[in-house]
Amino acid sequence: MRNPSGGPRVLLRRLREIMAEPISAQDRLDRIVVLIAANMVAEVCSVYVLRADGTLELYATEGLNREAVHLTTMRSGEGLVGQIADAAQPLALSDAQTHPAFAYKPETGEEIYHGFLGVPILRAGNTLGVLVVQNRAHRTYSEEEIEAAQTTAMVVAEMIASGELQAIAQEGADIALKKPLYLQGVSLTEGVGLGHVVLHEPRVVVKNLIAENLDEEVERLEAAIRKVRASIDELIERGDVADHGEHREVLETFRMFAHDQGWLRRMREAVMTGLTAEAAVERVQSDNRARMMRQTDPYLRERLHDLDDLANRLLHQLVGQDFVSDGADLPENAIIVARSMGPAALLDYDRGRLRGIVLEEGGPASHVAIVARALGIPAVGRVENATALVEPGDAIIADGVAGEVQIRPRPDVEAAYAEKARLRAKRQEQYRALCDVAPVTRDGIAVDLQLNAGLLADLPHLEETGAHGIGLFRTEIQFMVAQQMPSTSEQQKLYRAVLDAVDGAPVVFRTLDIGGDKILPYMSAIEEENPALGWRAIRIGLDRPGLLRSQVRALLKAGSGRDIAIMLPMVATVEEFTRGREIVAREIAYLRRHGHAMPTDIAIGVMIEVPALLFQIREICALADFISVGSNDLLQFLFAADRENRQVAQRYDPLGVASLRALRLIADTARESDCRVSICGEIAGRPLEAMALLGLGFRTLSMAPSSVGPVKAMLLALDAQEVGAVIREKLDDPETGPTLRSTLAQFAERRRIPV
Ligand code: PEP
Ligand code: MG
Repeated sequence: MRNPSGGPRVLLRRLREIMAEPISAQDRLDRIVVLIAANMVAEVCSVYVLRADGTLELYATEGLNREAVHLTTMRSGEGLVGQIADAAQPLALSDAQTHPAFAYKPETGEEIYHGFLGVPILRAGNTLGVLVVQNRAHRTYSEEEIEAAQTTAMVVAEMIASGELQAIAQEGADIALKKPLYLQGVSLTEGVGLGHVVLHEPRVVVKNLIAENLDEEVERLEAAIRKVRASIDELIERGDVADHGEHREVLETFRMFAHDQGWLRRMREAVMTGLTAEAAVERVQSDNRARMMRQTDPYLRERLHDLDDLANRLLHQLVGQDFVSDGADLPENAIIVARSMGPAALLDYDRGRLRGIVLEEGGPASHVAIVARALGIPAVGRVENATALVEPGDAIIADGVAGEVQIRPRPDVEAAYAEKARLRAKRQEQYRALCDVAPVTRDGIAVDLQLNAGLLADLPHLEETGAHGIGLFRTEIQFMVAQQMPSTSEQQKLYRAVLDAVDGAPVVFRTLDIGGDKILPYMSAIEEENPALGWRAIRIGLDRPGLLRSQVRALLKAGSGRDIAIMLPMVATVEEFTRGREIVAREIAYLRRHGHAMPTDIAIGVMIEVPALLFQIREICALADFISVGSNDLLQFLFAADRENRQVAQRYDPLGVASLRALRLIADTARESDCRVSICGEIAGRPLEAMALLGLGFRTLSMAPSSVGPVKAMLLALDAQEVGAVIREKLDDPETGPTLRSTLAQFAERRRIPV
């Protein structure tokens, strides 16, 4: 094995000097390749930079024909250099010319070289270019040399990232770092936001790459690892996982990785090449990210993500930087980009400056999506690798309507989205104009449009939309966004504030619907194979009545002197409802005994979201003061298709015959029993579905604020009896196909009903 002249540390020291010199970017790069070639005893050293069009351009060379600089290009995947860029992994060959991928570029004069070592120039896992050294002789490059080349590549990556190399890019050949990107995700909140990237967990900017004293750097690394390990142990021991919202399982994985010898060894080795502790962590993290971005197995990807998170913690520990962005100190037009985010963290950001959210995780029913919707912030979820593909300050567009993200958009793309945002604003304006128009169908049927809410931030929408009341107040949201269990008096305060804000309009408070996907960070999670079918909502309320009792008490006290409606979620049997009602009755008796002022009316209702209730619907309608259809859950259970699972989301249609027959049964029975009925699942807010619901006889629809305008515009143009007749006839006809969607869409088109 050959010993590189001067060794990697000398190389880095010299590099630092070159980086500090006041010379042009091209001169600096030219000096760097000369230095590396000399240091590694190689005849050739070249730097290829990835351009926005996906080709690799020769930016500097020592040893190859200099005339080829800025002329020679390789397509992605072409030749050895293209392959290294694609795979984001080093490649060392003793005879490059015999490799099947070797591509001969006559203008470079490289035909005489055999030994070849190429390493990707990586930043945050993204390939920015390739660094190559070549030797005339057949040569085997040592691990140490490969390591040294990677370390050098990191310095070049910083030059590219700082914009220095963009300055010498040829006209029309921008470097890839500034490449426009289009990413597909899913819509979390409708709306289009244009702005600039703010990373929720700011990347640590490692300014100091090159070590002064290696022993000190190793010690700094070891000390930081010890601290990170201790903090993870402490979090696990405290059982307190609220800090960053991680759950125990993730922390256990962190703990495992924090003791992983392979990972620790790679970081130590990186320090030994002459890097500072933080630069070494970043180097290894960047390799890991490159693997993560290419990993297709979801389980392994998830683990690489965990390792990435852990490396972040280590970096923050080393440079003493805050872990998350300062919510109050936000630039104008900020679009937050994060892997995941808790609802409380979102509420910390200055709403006036926030234009959108882009998340790698987070489905439409996630807590953060619920809060984003309440605040009316455009949000896109499930955008793979979003955090790695952006740089802070990049221009970005979050299209929460289509579930798309545009990063560094070209001017024409940006103009198109700006127009889309303008049109949306105009449409919203038109909906606002409908605010005071009574929601009455063309055939004279008055419809009650209500809102789904869960935060005080939702309540101004009542006035803005002209909705008549709150058809579903999800009380668990207060619990989900809190750092600790809200006390009875805190609950009472919120309920009172809600009742004050609505100024006499009706509000239906749903008792805590936790469990399943709604996990409280401060409550120890119980291991369940099937949480959606597990111990949740009313089941917890009946088995451990303490929590339900204190909530009911808070509701009754908050409602003194007013009408109050309490609704029980996830009821599966008549008996569960009567037991829930008894708990309310006991609290009423208790408060009366103690001389508390009582609500003027107390209505107790039940959500219809477990299919078993369809077969007890008459009994339920006879007992309950009102019922409300939670179609999100009802349909997921009816079709055994997880509402959070994208893969099965399209497997059933709410306008399918089975769904509509179930909904008709509920509407008909409630009418016959003279029981008030509403529907508060997402389908109530979609105009075409809402049209069908009105046809089936539903008269109270509760929905997200942004749906009120479109649904009202639809119903003002609708003859509800007419559509009802069409639906009933179709549902009774055994020849009808699986769904009424196209029948209904055609009906709407013929009648010019906006859906
Ligand atoms: C439903 O299930 O339809 C519903 C409204 O409740 P949630 O979405 O809160 O489960
Ligand atoms: Mg539900």
